[in-house]
Amino acid sequence: MIDMSKLWEYLDQEVENSPMPKEYENYMVDILCKDCHKESNIPFHAVGLKCSFCGAYNTCQTTKTTDRVSSAANADGEGN
Ligand SMILES: [Zn+2]
Repeated sequence: MIDMSKLWEYLDQEVENSPMPKEYENYMVDILCKDCHKESNIPFHAVGLKCSFCGAYNTCQTTKTTDRVSSAANADGEGN
């Protein structure tokens, strides 16, 4: 059995050293942890998705939920 905690520590540092762009601040994703089999909703990060229960990065993304509302485009075709 491999002790993964060293790897998670390494990834923790990588996450801290690589802040995501501001536009991703509210970009939340649902993940499923393969270690503890729990689902959590966490901020997306390119380095890794960390389980908020056990702290493992051994996760997979299930769905993505965006808090951001893009209401910029509202072009009404005006008929004549
Ligand atoms: Zn977990």
